[in-house]
Amino acid sequence: MIRTKIEELRKKLEEYAYQYYVLDKPSISDFEYDELMNELLALEKEYPEFYDPNSPSQRIIGQVLDGFEKVVHKRAMLSLGNSYNYEDLKAFDASIRKSAGAVTYVCELKIDGLACSLNYENGSLAFGVTRGDGEVGEDVSNNIRTIKSIPLKIPYLGEVEVRGEVYMPRASFEALNKQRQEDDEELFANPRNAAAGSIRQLDSSIAAKRKLDGFWYHLPQGRELGLNSHYECLEWMRAQGFKVNPNARKCRDVDEIWAYIQEMGAKRSELPYDIDGIVIKVDDLTLQQTLGFTAKSPRWATAYKFPPEEAETILKDIFLTVGRTGRITPNAALEPVRLAGTSVGFASLHNEDLIKERDIRVGDTVVVRKAGDIIPEVVRSIPEKRSGQIPYVFPDTCPICGGVIVRLAGEANHHCINPDCPARVTESIAHFASRDAMEIEGLGIQRVKQLNDLGYLKSVEDIYRLKDKREELVVLEGFGQRSYDKLMEAIEASKKSGLSKVLVGLGISQIGTKAAKTLAQAFGSMTALRKASIEDLMEIRDMGEISAQSLYGFLHQPNNEALIDKLQEYGVVMESQKQEITENFFTGKTVVLTGTLEKYDRKQATEILEACGAKVTSSVTSKTDLVIYGEGAGSKLDKANQLGVATMDEISFIAELQDF
Ligand code: NAD
Repeated sequence: MIRTKIEELRKKLEEYAYQYYVLDKPSISDFEYDELMNELLALEKEYPEFYDPNSPSQRIIGQVLDGFEKVVHKRAMLSLGNSYNYEDLKAFDASIRKSAGAVTYVCELKIDGLACSLNYENGSLAFGVTRGDGEVGEDVSNNIRTIKSIPLKIPYLGEVEVRGEVYMPRASFEALNKQRQEDDEELFANPRNAAAGSIRQLDSSIAAKRKLDGFWYHLPQGRELGLNSHYECLEWMRAQGFKVNPNARKCRDVDEIWAYIQEMGAKRSELPYDIDGIVIKVDDLTLQQTLGFTAKSPRWATAYKFPPEEAETILKDIFLTVGRTGRITPNAALEPVRLAGTSVGFASLHNEDLIKERDIRVGDTVVVRKAGDIIPEVVRSIPEKRSGQIPYVFPDTCPICGGVIVRLAGEANHHCINPDCPARVTESIAHFASRDAMEIEGLGIQRVKQLNDLGYLKSVEDIYRLKDKREELVVLEGFGQRSYDKLMEAIEASKKSGLSKVLVGLGISQIGTKAAKTLAQAFGSMTALRKASIEDLMEIRDMGEISAQSLYGFLHQPNNEALIDKLQEYGVVMESQKQEITENFFTGKTVVLTGTLEKYDRKQATEILEACGAKVTSSVTSKTDLVIYGEGAGSKLDKANQLGVATMDEISFIAELQDF
């Protein structure tokens, strides 16, 4: 039971992290993500027997995108430990004071962007890298160079690395989303995701247009440069021409830190950029060195995260929306209120139970929360301010098609069960065309609704028939020849998106972007996938029984079979580059790495072995085929010898790789 719970949490967090770091499109707020992560951490602490070095709690889960040159960081780029209240800060301070008597901290704004490293040689910017997974980042030099405030030349002539945050100012973010709305393109959830999506564009002219900026807050070589404190590092960077945030302040104890947090919290909404907390760092560089690091973060710093902002307003109405699966979501229409820098007029109410539990009624004064991004929510109503409002009764018909809606036993959501409900159809088509799926720019929900109303877009497959409707479409409002041509180009290009994108586009329950990618890599084609049994599907990494059943059920449902056939007929490619593995010594073997290899670190060796078709696991059992050992190997090598498992030293490992 506990194991399943832990595994579920890990899987969820990985999918959310994938959406956040790779797609730059989170589906939950950072606050909710952190709550789930803390739940996992608490369970892992209580049940250490389920420890797994690959758990999202144990590592930095950024990702390195294909298409960029990869750069191994000279020093790992880590995350930060979190604090949420005064007590957490007290505990942090106490842990520092164990190693030092008097201590000075530097408090800084926690800029909500993405960490980057700038590297200078002979006084010139040599390259800029993202944090990536902490060990390996993406070389984004071309995009970094488009940020006007970053100095391309500095007075210091030695090799030096400067780290900080690339962010998107609020004004640039609002202008970008306004433009995207006009072009019927998907909006970015928040400035952080927009910044991450912009810095990781292969075409640097896009990054240039997005008007990014940066603040620089870390000088890893401070001591080598003869500096004694973090504060001196900030001054050194400023003197070299870097944009250093002016709000950094020295604090001597938790009360001063707390006062700084309150002061900056009050200023937060007036800043021209987003911050999601305050970073507290030990000032003395020698003490920082003594305190050192955990695998994930420095012990000499912590990030205080602001609680989500809340405000009171009037709930004017409750209205229902219908998603592509028929799921019905109740929403609150609010008297607009300013929250986290934006005007909030709508909030999600999630489902009927939530409305009942929180006793939310139309006309109530309610408290609304916004965690800096995503959809705001109604936290509670204030019954004392009520004057005759009556409890809300959940409707029994679909607001769009008028059909019956049902709520199955054990489920929290109501569903419209009419497969032809226009809301379901248009949402499914827009989902198929969305950025995560087939990336058909210009086919957002508004355009889909317009074409659906006119009868040109009644199903996903109709997308590929729009080319026959040229005359009808070019005369439509907001269309014209240019938009039509652009849309046709995007539709044509989408045919080559590949299997994983098609799988996402089909909107199969339980199959998220990450699972779709794994499936596409493992099976290589829709034909192979359709032939797979539930058991075959379950053999794939991270595929549980429920996901496998859902996929199998979907692929063998006659309507879906017909849709897939039709899409194939229209030329939609349903193959992916299956990782071609030439049969070699390691293919199909279960391998354990132990000790320190000289040539490769653990991660590189794992990647090489996986690319050879081996499965790399962490513990030696009777199922292990081979143990590769390096310097200092201990108990795992002993166990391999006891069990009679084959072993191989590093020299033989490298020799074997060369043979292949
Ligand atoms: P983090 O954001 O909690 O803190 C570390 C980062 O803070 C650093 O890497 C750096 O980029 C940044 N930073 C900003 N100002 C700084 C300063 N003055 N000094 C030092 N660092 C500064 O940790 P993380 O590992 O970058 O990201 C994890 C967080 O991302 C989670 O806590 C969560 O909130 C969010 N997340 C959200 C989702 C989601 O689906 N919403 C998914 C994954 C992660």
